[in-house]
Formats: sequence, structure tokens, C-alpha cells
Amino acid sequence: MKIDEYIPIVGEEAVEEVKRLGEDLKDRELLHINSTYVGGGVAELLKSLVPLMNDVGLKTEWKTILGDKEFFDITKSFHNALHGADIEITQGMMDKYLEVNLSNAEHLELSKDFIFVHDPQPAALIQFRKGGKWVWRCHIDISSPNRGVWDFLAKFVSKYDAVVVHLPDYKRPDLQRPQCVIPPSIDPLSEKNIDLPASYVEKVLRKYDLDPEMPIITQVSRFDRLKDPLGVLKAFELAKKGISTFDFRSLLDENTFAFDLFRTLKYRVSLQLVLVGGSATDDPEGEKVHYEVFKKAVSDRNVHVLMLPPDAHREINAIQRGSTILIQKSIKEGFGLTVTEGMWKGKPVIGGKTGGIKYQIIDGETGFLVSKISEAAERILYLIKNPKVRRSMGIKAKEHVRKNFLVTRHLRDYLKLMKEVQVK
Ligand code: UDP
Repeated sequence: MKIDEYIPIVGEEAVEEVKRLGEDLKDRELLHINSTYVGGGVAELLKSLVPLMNDVGLKTEWKTILGDKEFFDITKSFHNALHGADIEITQGMMDKYLEVNLSNAEHLELSKDFIFVHDPQPAALIQFRKGGKWVWRCHIDISSPNRGVWDFLAKFVSKYDAVVVHLPDYKRPDLQRPQCVIPPSIDPLSEKNIDLPASYVEKVLRKYDLDPEMPIITQVSRFDRLKDPLGVLKAFELAKKGISTFDFRSLLDENTFAFDLFRTLKYRVSLQLVLVGGSATDDPEGEKVHYEVFKKAVSDRNVHVLMLPPDAHREINAIQRGSTILIQKSIKEGFGLTVTEGMWKGKPVIGGKTGGIKYQIIDGETGFLVSKISEAAERILYLIKNPKVRRSMGIKAKEHVRKNFLVTRHLRDYLKLMKEVQVK
């Protein structure tokens, strides 16, 4: 992608600002390091940011660290612990974590002007710095972490030149390093978010046995307990009970052929639920959670548990666009790119009242924040019954994303940060 292609979406001024900042950093070498090229939000972000950083003049590369299952089991438990889970960190876990970071340091070219290390998996690489400025980019809610795991990781994090968190609440008072807040973003021109023809959206819905005429509620997420897929299933079951007595006509725009056709008929609406979730190579829990969800859902033909390949971005885009409501009922969520994606598609999103979701959904304006399953069910019902509210929330949601959560703003913030850290 070229930065100029974003002018019709964000305006010339915003793009010119990014280009000016890029000019100031021209030919500087930058390396991003994370733990997977596919699956999850970090990979999604880097796929868009890395080419754009190159386009504006930086020599930008993206590398991932290699690790075996034992390593990723440990780092997934760190991830859960940073979100507050009660996990005891053993000497064996620490040794394995350091051993894998050491072996990666031997293979990575670490002499660059800037190194951005994403999340805890590669955080210990800082021990092998060979100059340059190092930034730790944290994509997790670290506001109330498990003490043992945080204290272990903080030994490395405190060696970085700067730490970037998603939200003001995630800054750590115990970290004596410059901390800056940069929320994530989505790329409106990526396969995941680009506009699609209605015919393609319908084709994808039918491919997965979804009826485009009936309401569809969708959650797109890795199969992770913190994303609460079983809670979504329960909310759907509750909402379905409320819908059985509801008249289908109020779903339709008045004065349409379909409205006339259904005027005299009493229809039973069948709500459909889609849980779409691929796997990520750095998340070994996915398969187990997928199986649990699948077992619970198998008896309801209106529940579709879809495991799509990691590159199914266009199809996920189509499913989001073809949905009536999007849901992201997370219990903990660093940011929640799926919320941003849904809002960009002009959909109201029902989200768990947690982490970054709270910053994206303006409750009652661009969607709803919920803390309980029953609340999620109520909000589903309300939105199903009120197409006008859905439409007006969707319009506001898209504008909220345009102003705050697009990749051009993210790129601008990174370039500003790099200019600041290079003089320190
Ligand atoms: N995603 C995907 N396929 C899936 C599940 C998720 O492409 O089966 C994408 C999703 O569209 C979003 C990202 O992965 O862009 C997930 O980011 P989010 O911040 O919501 O959650 P994370 O996985 O980083 O916790």
C-alpha cells in the first residue's frame, strides 16, 4: 500500500503530516519483532504498518521469533497472568523463556537504528542489544498483572528506551521508563476492511450456510477463554427465547417489496450466531477452547462455529459486513481490533466492558458495553428489534473509527515517538 492511497479516507492534511515525519526519519533502519506472522491483532497491525513505514522512507523489516510448544505454553500463561490470572512462575519457566530468547538473539540481526519489540514473548531480547533505540510495544492490559510474572518481565522492560501501551490506564507506575500511549488501529484498505460488493458478501454467507435474510450475530475471535465464546453462546440462547414472539416485519425497511410481502404473514425469526475463529501459532490453547465451543454448539443448527484459515481476511470481512450485529464479549481485552473492524463496517458492536473495548464503544452511541450475559442478550434483542437505531449507531461508529483508529494516525504516532526517542 502507498500512503497517498489513504487521502480519500483521511484527507490530504493527515497524509502530508505523516509524509513530513517520514522525511525526517528517512533511511533509518527499523526492525519489528513479534512472535507470529499470522493470527491475532499484532500480526494484523504489522501487516499494514510495515509496508507503509517503508513507503514513507524508513527501511523497515519485520521478523518473528521461533519457539517450540513448551515456550509458547509458557508465554501464553504469561499473557493470561498479565491479564491477572493466578499463575505461579517457576524457575523452569524462566529458564526456558530466557533460553529461547537467547537462541533467537543469535539468529536475528539486532544492529538497527530502532527495534520495536512487541509483547512479552521476545521482551528479553533487550539483553542482547547492540546499540540503537529499543521500544517495547505492549498489546496487553497490564494494569493489574499477576505480580510474580510482571516482576520477572519488568526486569527486561525497564531496560528499554521507551514503552508504548494502548491506553492511559495501562501505564505502570512502577516502571521508571518513558511510557507513551498509542492506541492500535485498523487498515481501511486491507483485505479485512476494504469495501466489498454486496454480491460477494452474500456468496460468502451462503457458502457457510448462513441465511442473508435472517439476522446474523457474529463474534470474530481466536478461541480464547478471555474472549468468552461460551458466554456469547449463552447470550444468544437467551436472546433467541425473546425473539420467538417478535414480528419479522419490523426488521425490514418500510415501503419495500419484502415488507409488503410479509405484511399479512406471521413470521418466526430465526436468529443465527456465527463464531469465527482461526488459530494463532503463538496460542496453543486455541484448539482446546474451539473443541469446547463446538461441543456446546453442535446441537443448534443456527449456531455456526467456523474455523477459517489464517489468511481468510476477505471472507471474515464479508461475514462482518453481512452481520446484523457484531459482538465481542471479552472478559479481558488489550484493545480489541475486532471491535474496530466491526465499527468501521458501520455495525453496532456489543462489547465486554473491559480494556480497549471501553475506549472504542461509546455506550448507547456507537454500540453497547455489557458486563453480564443477560445484558448482552437484552442488547441483542433491542438492536434486532430496532433497525433505525442499528443504522444510526453504525454511522456514528464508523466516524469514531475514522477519527481515532485508522492506520495513518497510528503511523503518525509511531514516527513522532521515534523522533523523540532518537534524541534522548
Ligand atoms: N482474526 C482473524 N481470524 C480469526 C480470528 C481473528 O483474522 O479467525 C483477526 C481479527 O479480524 C483481528 C485480529 O485477528 O484483526 C484479532 O485482534 P484482537 O485485537 O481483536 O484480538 P487478539 O487476537 O489480538 O487478542
